[in-house]
Amino acid sequence: MDLIADFDLTRENTLGLVSAARLAARINAADDLDALVDEARERDMPLKILGGGSNVVLSETVEALVGLMKIEGRNQADQTATHNIVTAGAGENWHEFVAWTVESGMPGLENLAGIPGTVGAAPVQNIGAYGAQLSDFFQRLEAYDTETRQTRVFTREECGFGYRQSRFKAEPDRHVILSLTLALPRDWRPSNVYAGLERLSAGALPGEVMAHVLALRRSKLPDWRRLGNAGSFFHNPVVSAAQAENFADAPRYPQPDGSVKLSAGWLIEQCGLKGERLGPVGTFEGHALVLVNHGGATRRDVIRFAAFVREQVSTRFGVDLVQEPIEI
Ligand SMILES: Cc1cc2nc3c(=O)[nH]c(=O)nc-3n(C[C@H](O)[C@H](O)[C@H](O)COP(=O)(O)OP(=O)(O)OC[C@H]3O[C@@H](n4cnc5c(N)ncnc54)[C@H](O)[C@@H]3O)c2cc1C
Repeated sequence: MDLIADFDLTRENTLGLVSAARLAARINAADDLDALVDEARERDMPLKILGGGSNVVLSETVEALVGLMKIEGRNQADQTATHNIVTAGAGENWHEFVAWTVESGMPGLENLAGIPGTVGAAPVQNIGAYGAQLSDFFQRLEAYDTETRQTRVFTREECGFGYRQSRFKAEPDRHVILSLTLALPRDWRPSNVYAGLERLSAGALPGEVMAHVLALRRSKLPDWRRLGNAGSFFHNPVVSAAQAENFADAPRYPQPDGSVKLSAGWLIEQCGLKGERLGPVGTFEGHALVLVNHGGATRRDVIRFAAFVREQVSTRFGVDLVQEPIEI
């Protein structure tokens, strides 16, 4: 395993923040983890894992040993009477994995197509889009525990999945996810109830659904290769039914437990902040929930602008927005 000093991370994060890791190493196999933890302990540095860098706000200098997740491989592990069971290494690109399942006649994940990042990070925030989330398909994952230094399997119950939440997000840096196994129902039907997908016919094929989802994403989100961003920057706030009464004009999404999810993007837009900018960071003109780097931004610029947005929303609506990307 090669250690690289002062490794440039500017191209390793979709926000395009100027950043470098004090030390970095590629993780090509599960066997690399023991040596990596030894190195981190000997140097008294935290070990941080980076996948595609699409859900992080990186410091200018990341004072850590950064493990760049590169474990590859994907396969159909099994086929039961009801499900196709598929497994992929944590370093695989999530969208390429989704496209492979669809092209291989194992549909199910097409509503989650086009989400940037790696397979290994998908369970960390239980990725979701267009009415689907990872936990709908989750069967198990394998992870290395940096405390016990054992590799073990986690069941769905052990992962603590919630809305953009899991135990891996709640206990940062403890587990390194190595591989993910999903169960895709063989009795497939298009899931077209979500806003934007209702134009799909009940007879739409999986590839058509995926193409439609990708086109919708392209029409709403900036391409991070041209305009740095980390997707949605804040969680949609969930409030009590009583509180939701104060938001009569707002889009409201009732939840099974009686609470109501509000649109963070709508709240920001109502504060007049769509397209607003402070220095190199602002909200995207087409979608107020997406913070963009107009060029040369650092973590400090992002944090300053995010604090400004949160303060405006809190003052106007009494709602505290929670940041989605993780600060490293
Ligand atoms: C344009 C755009 C659109 C997006 N759309 C969506 C969307 O629709 N839905 C959605 O849910 N998200 C979305 N995101 C957010 C992001 O793509 C997902 O959260 C994705 O899963 C992050 O993957 P990553 O590999 O880039 O993770 P990174 O950003 O590299 O890491 C994120 C966190 O996970 C940890 N981590 C990464 N890999 C591992 C591992 N193997 N083991 C343990 N911990 C790990 C990191 O330490 C970090 O804390 C979007 C982002 C962008 C830029």
